[in-house]
Amino acid sequence: MKAFLMPDYMFASYAEITPAFLRSIGVRALLIDIDNTLAPYEQAEPDERIVHWFRELHENGISAALVSNNHAPRVEQFNRSLGLLAYADSNKPSRKTLERAMRELGVEYGETAMLGDQLLTDCYAGKHIGLIALIVPPIKDKTNLFFRFKRLCERPFIRKYARMRGYRDFMSFWRVKPR
Ligand SMILES: [Mg+2]
Repeated sequence: MKAFLMPDYMFASYAEITPAFLRSIGVRALLIDIDNTLAPYEQAEPDERIVHWFRELHENGISAALVSNNHAPRVEQFNRSLGLLAYADSNKPSRKTLERAMRELGVEYGETAMLGDQLLTDCYAGKHIGLIALIVPPIKDKTNLFFRFKRLCERPFIRKYARMRGYRDFMSFWRVKPR
C-alpha cells in the first residue's frame, strides 16, 4: 500500500517533463490529470504553454490522454482545443478508467506513466497497476480542511522521496506557490 504512494519522479511543473526524459525511462504514453496538474480549477481552457507542451509530446510520438476525476463539462471544455482522448469522472484511485484509457490508446503497462498532483489519487491509481508515477506539486491548492488533511498525509512520502534523491530543501519545492 505504502509503495503505491511513493512517486517515481517529481517535477516542479508538468512543463519540465520533456519527450527526451520520457524516452529515457521508456515511456511512450502519458495519462494526465487536469486540475492542479496542468491548470488551476478556475482555468477553463488550456493556455499556450499547455498547447505547446502537448504538441511537443505528439511530435515525439508520445500518446496522451486526460484522466480527470472532475465532471464532463470541465473536462470537455478543457479538451476542446486539445482534442485528446479524455475521461471525466474517472474515480481515481480506481484503476478502471486508467486501464480503459490504455486500451483505447493501444499502449502497455510498462510504457505508460500517470502524471498528477495527488498521491492518494493519481500516484496510487498509477502505481497499483504498475505504471510509472510522475508527480508535480498542486498549482493552486484548495484550502479547505479535507484537502489540508490529504496534503498532510502525503508529506512523509514526499520527504522520503527527497531523502532518497538527495534533495536538501525539498519541502519548499513541494509547498504551494501562487502563480
Ligand atoms: Mg489534480
